Parts: sequence; structure tokens; C-alpha cells
Amino acid sequence: MKKETMKALIYHGKANDMSLEDVPVPKIEYPNNAIVRVTLSTICGSDMHVVGGHLGVPGPTLMGHEFVGVVEEVGDAVMDFKPGDRVAVSCVASCGVCGPCKDGQPVHCTKQNVGCFGVSPNLPGCQTEYVRIPFADNTLYHIPDSLSDEDVLFVGDILSTGYFGAEMAEIKTGDTVLIVGAGPVGMCAALCARLFSPSKIIIVDGIESRLDTCLKAGIVDHVINYMEEDVQAKVLELTGGEGVDRAIEAIGKESSMLTCMDAVRYGGNVAFLGVFSGPVQIPLHRLWNKNMTIRTGFVPVNHIPDLIKMIEAGKLDTSFLITHRAPLNDILKGYDYFGNRKDNCIKWLVTPYEE
Ligand SMILES: [Zn+2]
Ligand SMILES: [Zn+2]
Repeated sequence: MKKETMKALIYHGKANDMSLEDVPVPKIEYPNNAIVRVTLSTICGSDMHVVGGHLGVPGPTLMGHEFVGVVEEVGDAVMDFKPGDRVAVSCVASCGVCGPCKDGQPVHCTKQNVGCFGVSPNLPGCQTEYVRIPFADNTLYHIPDSLSDEDVLFVGDILSTGYFGAEMAEIKTGDTVLIVGAGPVGMCAALCARLFSPSKIIIVDGIESRLDTCLKAGIVDHVINYMEEDVQAKVLELTGGEGVDRAIEAIGKESSMLTCMDAVRYGGNVAFLGVFSGPVQIPLHRLWNKNMTIRTGFVPVNHIPDLIKMIEAGKLDTSFLITHRAPLNDILKGYDYFGNRKDNCIKWLVTPYEE
């Protein structure tokens, strides 16, 4: 590689303290590594948790974990990728052979220097020009020629997370499904819930423009604006007085957790996708009384190949999420727009730095 330094968004360890800086271009450190040139990345909701200081991530941290790119260089042990290959990247680097990896839980890989890009120590993120990929054979995925970078941009994080929500909720054919939170993850959960053939998908949010987006994209059947309507009354009306079969929480707040628990019918399931940054009080007596099942977890990112196949087959289309796009130069503006939902921003895409 010719370049010695590159631009990178660095978080300094205190809330909202970040800047675009020059840092060294990463090098192959182990034979299983690859270097990927980032062609497209995003700002994710969990980036906001990091830079808000809620996850205790120390500085300096090179931010970002949702991206696609082109392989620039590979180590001697990398078998499945070569320079020039277009790749989607899992937000979690993992070895593929340890116990948790074999068990379909790469997020809990036991090897050193793995974890989530832009969050875990020693794993610089993607809001930059080049990223070092540990265990490249297991962390990278080929992008089929028929698909664009945009088509698969979200497979490594929010689309996997949405799918995980639908999976945890155990949606069965004909079920009614409630999703609380119409942010990008809630929208992906709705999109993936549809794959399981529910009879009705209802989404709750307080922002009308986001509810409109969900309806226009056809990913839900009904919307409830909690600022204007009584959520529980509306849920009962839409479900013949029974409550929903499945609920998915996609915010990470106690109030939305309770909304899901109230809305679900006896014997129903609630899946928690939201990132809770602290403890919440779970009313166990209500779970008991309703024979309710709850599940939660960090996305295992074990369905990326399936998601790519479904995108190729036209069963998943995330293009409606993309509202903004600008080069890395403008990334601080991106955090402001995305974080503060300015200009109805749903997803802010980061294109390569412009000299
Ligand atoms: Zn994320
Ligand atoms: Zn592993």
C-alpha cells in the first residue's frame, strides 16, 4: 500500500469527545489477517451509545462497525479471499473454530483480539479508510457480483440484529407481531419478521415520519404513534382483544420493555434487541402470571450468508433505510444528524474520504 496515514474518526473516551484525525494505515499483524479498504460504512445506533459514554469504551477508539469494502492485502493463512475481492464484513471478528464459534455464537469467540470493531479493545473500527480484519476467512463474506455495496451494507450488523429479533420471538405462520421502536433496528426487525409469515406486523414509535417510512416501505401493516394513541388499547383492537403473539423491543428502555410485556398475550414471547445501558426492573410476577417467555442477547451474526442469499433472491430490500450519504470528511455532521434525528435521518452512509 502506498499510503502511510489515513483519516479516522477517533473517540477520546469522554461523552461526545471525538475528532477526525490522521492515524497510521493498519498492517497485517497475523497470517489470518486481511486489510480491507472501506468503500461504504454507516453510523449505527450503538456508535451513539459508545460516543455518549454509556458503554464505558475507553479512548482513543477508532469508531464504527457496519461496513463493506474491497480486500487490499491478505496474510499467508487467508484461504478464501484475495486482493480485489468485494466483501461484506461481520461487525464481530471471530475465529470460527472455538467452542462458541462452532455453537453459532461467534460474538462470544474466545480468541484474543476479537470482538466488535470500533468497540472492543485492539479492534479499530471502520469510520476510516482501511481496516485490519482478524480471522479474515471467518469475518469476511463475498459480495455476489449481482449486488451493490448498498444492497448488503447492513448484513453485518442491523439486518443480522433484526433477523435475530424475529428469530428470538419465534414468530410462527399467522402470528401477530408488535415491534416497539421504529429506528433502523426496529425497521430491520419488521422486515425480517415478514420472512416468518405473520398475519400482522404492528410497529410503535413517537416519530410520525418514521412510521410513515415503515408504511411506505410496506414492512408493517399497522403503525401506532404513542404520542397520539393509547398503545395497549390499539393493540387489543388490532388483535381481537387478545394481545399480540410476539413482541420485539428495539429501543433499550424500561418503558418500551413494559409496553412489550403489556401488549403480548398469555403464553406469548418478547424478544429484547435494544441495547440497555444499565439495569432495569423486570416485573417477574407479570411474566409468571402471563406464562410469558422473554429472550435477549447480543446479535450472534451467524446468518450473514443466508441474509445475502435472501437479498439476492429479492426477499430483503433495505434501500428504504438510506436517507443520507456523505464522505468521511463530514462524519461529525453525520453523528449530529443521525444522533439527533435531524432532517428525518434514518441511516447516514459514509462514503470514502475526499482529498
Ligand atoms: Zn451497530
Ligand atoms: Zn471463535
